[in-house]
Amino acid sequence: PPDVEQLGRATWTFLHTTAAYYPDRPTPRQKANMYSLLSSLPILYPCTHCAADLGENVKSHPPDVSGRVGLSRWLCERHNEVNEKLGKPIFDCSIKKTDERWKDGPSD
Ligand code: FAD
Repeated sequence: PPDVEQLGRATWTFLHTTAAYYPDRPTPRQKANMYSLLSSLPILYPCTHCAADLGENVKSHPPDVSGRVGLSRWLCERHNEVNEKLGKPIFDCSIKKTDERWKDGPSD
């Protein structure tokens, strides 16, 4: 079976970075593809219990693919639900903090 921790770090890096660089005004095609990518995770993510929990989580919070600010927040909130379950620190989901971590780096 895969290393759930390493897989998790790699997947969050991919997802948060992709959200940070998602357009402010995505085309209908970009929105549809992002929706499809996120909807696929509960089906394909190779940590079965993670995928099942994520499926429940996404069912009650459908992906916000409207633009990068909404998407970054949506993803941060989903990640926080996992953090909470695992007893990890909760992340500040403001765009300032998610951009600092996943796009711009610290300002100083
Ligand atoms: P990670 O949680 O991997 O985070 C990496 C970095 O992201 C952090 O160092 C921090 O800088 C930043 N970060 C933290 N929180 C946020 C946030 N909310 N928004 C933006 N950035 C943030 N593991 C399990 O044991 N059980 C599960 O059910 C489970 N479900 C998962 C579901 C998904 C969809 C994914 C992608 C992973 C899941 N994992 C699960 C793995 C788990 O989330 C962690 O990736 C893993 O435990 C390693 O944790 P970490 O402390 O290295 O930091």
